[in-house]
This record gives sequence, C-alpha cells and structure tokens, in this order.
Amino acid sequence: MNVIRPGATIGLLGGGQLGRMTGYAARSLGYDVHVLDPDPACPARAIASRTITAAFGDAAAAAELARGVDVVTLEIEQIGADALAAVSDLVPLRPPAAAVIIVQDRLRQRQWLDANGFPVGPWRAVASAVEAESAITALGRSILKKPVGGYDGRGQVRVGGAGESEAAWVALGSGPALVEQFLDLELELSVLVARREDGAMVAYAPAVNHHEAGVLDWSVWPGELPPDVVRQAMQVAEGIAETMGIVGLIAVELFLTRDGRLFVNELAPRPHNSYHHSERAASTSQFEQFVRAVCGLPLGSVEPLRPGAIANLLGDLWEGGEPDFAAALTVPDVRLHLYGKASARPGRKMGHLSAVGASIEEARDKVLTARERFASTGS
Ligand code: ADP
Ligand code: MG
Repeated sequence: MNVIRPGATIGLLGGGQLGRMTGYAARSLGYDVHVLDPDPACPARAIASRTITAAFGDAAAAAELARGVDVVTLEIEQIGADALAAVSDLVPLRPPAAAVIIVQDRLRQRQWLDANGFPVGPWRAVASAVEAESAITALGRSILKKPVGGYDGRGQVRVGGAGESEAAWVALGSGPALVEQFLDLELELSVLVARREDGAMVAYAPAVNHHEAGVLDWSVWPGELPPDVVRQAMQVAEGIAETMGIVGLIAVELFLTRDGRLFVNELAPRPHNSYHHSERAASTSQFEQFVRAVCGLPLGSVEPLRPGAIANLLGDLWEGGEPDFAAALTVPDVRLHLYGKASARPGRKMGHLSAVGASIEEARDKVLTARERFASTGS
C-alpha cells in the first residue's frame, strides 16, 4: 500500500464545507492541502495553500492539481470522467474513479446496488413521458429523481399517482429519470464506512437523521435503533464499501420503513452531513478518518465518546438580516460551525450547530434551542 505520510500534500477536488472541514483535519495531521473548485471564494480556500479555480470537468486543471500533490481525493462526486482519469494518470486517486463514476449517476448507482444484491425499494428507470406514466401506474405514489446534479432534495419531484406523471416529467426537465416508490418511513439513518487501499475497514454505528423538505435538518449519534437494524445496516454499508473498492469514506443513507424493512437510499463516497457530530461525539471525527483512510494511515477508533447531535443552519435563517450568532452560543456546550460562504440563499447550507449530552435527546435539544436563539433576533 502506498502510504502518504504527514508532511505530504493532499489535493482536494471540491472546496465546499466538506473540503474545508477535511482540510482542518489534514492540517492537524501535518499535511498541506491544495484545492480545485469553480468558486475562487469557496469555503475551503481558508485552509488551502493553493486554490485552483476551474470547472469540475476541466481535465487540464485537474492534472495541474495532481502535479502539485501526493494524493488526490474529493468532497463532491460530480467530477468529470476525463478529469478523474487525468488525475489517476499522475497520482493515486482515492476513492478510485470507477467508484466515483458509479455513484455520481443515480441511475447507475441504483442499478449497481440492485445488481450486487443490496436492498433497495421498488424503482424503475424511465426515458420518456410514456415510460414515466407506466412506472408510476405500477409503483403508485412516487418520487422522480434526476440522475445527475440533484442534492438537498433538488432535482426531485414527488407525484401522488399516474395522473400527475406528465406534469412531473416536464417539471424534471423531460429527461431520463429514476422513479422510486414513495416509501412509508419510520425513520432515516446513515452508516459511515472508512476503508483503506489494503482493505482495512471500520464502520461507525448508524446516525439517525431527520429531514425537512428533502434536506437534512438534524442528526443524532449513535442512533437508538433495534440491534438487528444496526447490525444489518452496518453489514450492508461494509459490503458496499468492499464491493465498490472504496478508498476513503463512503456514507450510506438508508430508510427504515414502518413495516420494518431496511433499504439503501443513496451513497456518497466522501464525508457526509449526517456525521458532522463525529467531531464531538466520536473518538475519531469523520474528517480525520477520511484523511487517515486516504493516506493509508492506521484507521482511528469509531467508539462513541458521548451522544451527539447537529442541526443545520440553512440560508433561510439569514433572510431577516444577519442571525444572532452570539445568542446561539449562550446554550452551554453548543458549538457554532460556519462555512465562510459569502452569500446566503434559501436552502443553502451555511453552517451547523453541534452539541453532546447525556443522551441523544439532550444533545438534540441543545442544538435545536440554540438554533431558535440564532434565528430569533436577527436585525
Ligand atoms: P438528496 O441527494 O437530495 O439527499 P435523496 O434521494 O436522499 O436526495 O432524497 C432526499 C430526501 O427525500 C430523503 O432523505 C428522504 O427524506 C426523501 N426521500 C427520497 N426518496 C424517498 C423515497 N423513495 N421514499 C420516501 N422518501 C424519500
Ligand atoms: Mg440524500
């Protein structure tokens, strides 16, 4: 295994908040960080000694990044295949391009999960309005999802039944889509797995995640779940990491339905919003673990230290002016994490609040109380 030792330089494709927080961890471990992102003011600029401003499909720019570093990883999966290949020709790309290419297209990802025997809810691939209508007739209440580019609930349309299929097809841009049956959810959970090039692997216990309008709102860890659900979720996630040949991290989002079935929702081959509490609650934060896995260092303990929670801060909270940062910090033990984004837009992830507590309920109450104070007295 090619070990990248502290003192080396890590190249990051993507400079969003995940890159920024990965960068903090990389710097703590003694690495330098270079970043490629289309936005010169991206959140990770603060931790990068070099920022290359270029599109994610720009293979020449990706090669330029690779030439200046010892290993390249990514914090966003929407990187062009040519750019991934250009990097792989020069330095280790972790995770490997083949894994990124499977994950970056929802249809390809769903086909891969199904073909490899991982549990997914009923779904169809559709390429025309007629196919969409027959899929929805078969599946009933459904969600149409765009194969590429959707996140935080964007690029999706919910449909009550076949009568709405034409409108939904058009609303989604009249292109190929994944149609999923709308599942009756008991709760949502996620499992984060770290894997090294030599196959060494650790999995964090599941987080329980609450979404509002398709966007993560809060998350608690370790989730209070029946032991067989925990076992099955972790087994599925480790199976995915191994079968896909992940090097680095993979976050597996799962659904638990009211009738007790467990399904994989989607995958992310990088740090994940639903494990931000690992900075407080786990022996090893997801960001440090990511760096360790990518660099081939010993993987860290995934033991819970204390129950933890995070609540997201979306741009909506900025609508009445600058929020009251100080008020949020008056809740004992709450920490404020801001991503350094210059402009707030509704739905945009601007930061999060984190806390630990004697129980996950207590930790969650702290971050939700802090968020109310954060929002309440904006000027
Ligand atoms: P994103 O990339 O935006 O996170 P997801 O596919 O994870 O896309 O969907 C966002 C959220 O929408 C999920 O976390 C869940 O709350 C809801 N959702 C997505 N698919 C389904 C489904 N098939 N049944 C019920 N709810 C769903
Ligand atoms: Mg999701």
